[in-house]
Amino acid sequence: MQIKEYRTQFIEILSSIYGKDEAESFFYLILKEKQQLSRVDLALRPDLVFTAEELLVWNSILEQLKLEVPIQYLLGKTSFYGLDFEVNENVLIPRPETEELVDWIIQYQKLKDESQKIKILDIGTGSGCIAISLAKNIPNAQVFALDVSEKALATAQKNAELNNVNITFIHQSILETEDLGQQFDIIVSNPPYVRNLEKVEIKKNVLDYEPHLALFVEDNDALIFYKKIAELALKNLTSPGQLYFEINQYLGKEMVDLLERMNFKNVELRKDIYGNDRIMKADFR
Ligand code: GLN
Repeated sequence: MQIKEYRTQFIEILSSIYGKDEAESFFYLILKEKQQLSRVDLALRPDLVFTAEELLVWNSILEQLKLEVPIQYLLGKTSFYGLDFEVNENVLIPRPETEELVDWIIQYQKLKDESQKIKILDIGTGSGCIAISLAKNIPNAQVFALDVSEKALATAQKNAELNNVNITFIHQSILETEDLGQQFDIIVSNPPYVRNLEKVEIKKNVLDYEPHLALFVEDNDALIFYKKIAELALKNLTSPGQLYFEINQYLGKEMVDLLERMNFKNVELRKDIYGNDRIMKADFR
């Protein structure tokens, strides 16, 4: 079958779910990944055809896209802060909001003495996107990454190798940790923060396919991870040290109150690209 003809069908079928632009962008993403062909290649060679084998692969991807399986899981990869990451159903797909958190840390560290070795801990690392992009961009940092999920850690480990960085991985439940056993200059976390009551707002591609372990918290204890991590930060941050969080957009005020009550200084809340309260920094002295 001619690729060009297949393209028309593919986009038509998926347009009803995703809209034409996104359907088209999926087509070219898969074309690049599976056939190593660009949009220009196809325009220059309109007679290109799929083999029977290739067609099977494309049809299987198409079926899964119809079920709204995220394209990143189907291709097994995504990009974050300009780096490539493997992803699968055991880890959350890295989000642009999280890139802003990483950028905040990197820019802040650039203002500091870069000859001084520092230690950074990422709690709930998932794919490893925060830890790895920090390790890549803060040369004087020794980075540690913790997760309760062994499968997530295996993915993060692969991603560290893929990106050529050295990270110390820790398999541990943060909720069951009383002391981290060492001091860190920076603790960062994007823990689960979506309340069950917010499930109605969550899109099918997220709700049906991304790991709930990484997403959801109980309505009546939505800040459970933040409370625990902030308590540990009081014991295990150097003085001065920084705590960074990605947070639930509806709980900005509660988060500022929590950290100020616990005596963190310069508690700062920033909005994400969509204008929602999303990322925080606080100093410990
Ligand atoms: N931002 C993610 C979402 O909206 C949630 C991430 C998290 O719970 N840490 O799907």
